[in-house]
Amino acid sequence: MKPVHVVGGGLAGSEAAWALANAGVPVVLHEMRPLVKTDAHHTEKFAELVCSNSFRSDDWRGNAVGLLHEEMRRLGSLVMASAGPAQVPAGSALAVDRDVFSDAVTAALVAHPLITVEREEIKSLDQLLSVIPDARSAIRDPGANDALYDPLGPGSTALRASGRDDESIIFATGPLTSPSLADSIRNLTGEDSLAFFDAIAPIVHADSIDFDIAWKQSRYDKEGPGGDKAAYVNCPMDEVQYVAFINALNAGAKTEFKEWEKNTPYFEGCLPIEVMAERGLDTLRFGPMKPVGLLDPRVGKRAHAVVQLRQDNKLGTLFNIVGFQTKLKYGAQEEIFRMIPGLQNARFARLGGIHRNTFLNSPKLLDGTLRLRAEPRVRFAGQVTGVEGYVESAAMGMMAGRFAAAERLGRAIEPPPATTALGALIAHVTGGHIAGGKGSFQPMNVNFGLFPEIAAPTHGADGKKLKGEERGRAKKLAMAERALQDLNSWLTAA
Ligand code: FAD
Repeated sequence: MKPVHVVGGGLAGSEAAWALANAGVPVVLHEMRPLVKTDAHHTEKFAELVCSNSFRSDDWRGNAVGLLHEEMRRLGSLVMASAGPAQVPAGSALAVDRDVFSDAVTAALVAHPLITVEREEIKSLDQLLSVIPDARSAIRDPGANDALYDPLGPGSTALRASGRDDESIIFATGPLTSPSLADSIRNLTGEDSLAFFDAIAPIVHADSIDFDIAWKQSRYDKEGPGGDKAAYVNCPMDEVQYVAFINALNAGAKTEFKEWEKNTPYFEGCLPIEVMAERGLDTLRFGPMKPVGLLDPRVGKRAHAVVQLRQDNKLGTLFNIVGFQTKLKYGAQEEIFRMIPGLQNARFARLGGIHRNTFLNSPKLLDGTLRLRAEPRVRFAGQVTGVEGYVESAAMGMMAGRFAAAERLGRAIEPPPATTALGALIAHVTGGHIAGGKGSFQPMNVNFGLFPEIAAPTHGADGKKLKGEERGRAKKLAMAERALQDLNSWLTAA
């Protein structure tokens, strides 16, 4: 059997190689370190943790990332298996000694009889593929190949018939994908499809917005698709509140750019909110906080300034704060953004940030099994697909490896149900959840807002009525229990 090539020995590439090899499929794992370095990695080890040593909460009952840990363990994750013995005390979080952890991952991969390691930089997508002219012609029309390559079928019938099914590559090159490979990806997928900025605006859980203050309305009541004139959530500010807010933005603690980030210019179109605030008291009032075309229904007039939130997922459980990309420190963000009337009790699914990042416009470019629609011999995995975080990246590597193995072995590919953490992440990157269409896709950590709704229990096991936070906890537990039950059924059926 010809090997599957996995490019990048980070969190995702390590999991992908492990999943493939354990399914009996030979793998060549290409890693450019130590020959070519990145700005964040310091070693030549696989699955190096570039910053924090934490995989975050390990509690599957109350936390979406803890649930993802548990699901990955049930699927034989190398990252989770290597984290256990490397664990250091960190309360309910799973934190590790980074060297012990990466050494364990490296040793397992190197010792596997079906894995060959090549230390080299892969500079272009087709370095590992034979050149196929008809695939090139479809590149600017993603989806043109959909009829040819049944995305969820047993193997790819048309691909096999064309004699090209023995080539399969998983790119798991991460947020710091080497520049020449990034250029090659951009050439293949189109100029606007590979972002080099992570311009993240904070995202809040819809059920934490106070609708006694906020209201839904589109600017000038402009109709959206389906005649909706109330697509946005609006939070009003009077003059005193606005001035206090601008002062807080100016005084708030900011994250410093790393040396290598300093050369990355801001796009004028996605300036951090605090940079705009610095430009003058009214800059934001004439920018993302402009109040025109919006009428506060409580007072029947226009507010001094308005913060708008836009639906972030199809389920309507998450809303992002429009234009609020920021480099404020996390603590400062929570404090300052809760000054916004209507968001005083906001729970954040993700906080804002800007740093260099390379990620695909995956909902447009990838099919349901993480294959490039225009070139189905190529899969992507990890942070480059638009997830955020070590665990999420590893999870997407594991899934890409399982999909590629099933394809190679001619088995049916059935992605995990969207009610599981793994399925929810896949739905996020492949477009199942996107509400805003083109351009709205942003990387995200796993969180319960990505899961389909579930009726929150109203009473505890003791028959007592649940209140506020208790009810929220019970809802998370119900979602987590549903996830593990559905994961087990999916595993049994596979
Ligand atoms: P990586 O782990 O980066 O692996 C990609 C691998 O591909 C690397 O080994 C790289 O050397 C290799 N590679 C790249 N290009 C090529 C090529 N052309 N040919 C061959 N090999 C190549 N997440 C957290 O959860 N916690 C944090 O604290 C955290 N801090 C971060 C700090 C920074 C500076 C950055 C950039 C990201 C951080 N992240 C963090 C986000 C993310 O979780 C990590 O980047 C994570 O390592 C991503 O996993 P990955 O497998 O997709 O990529």
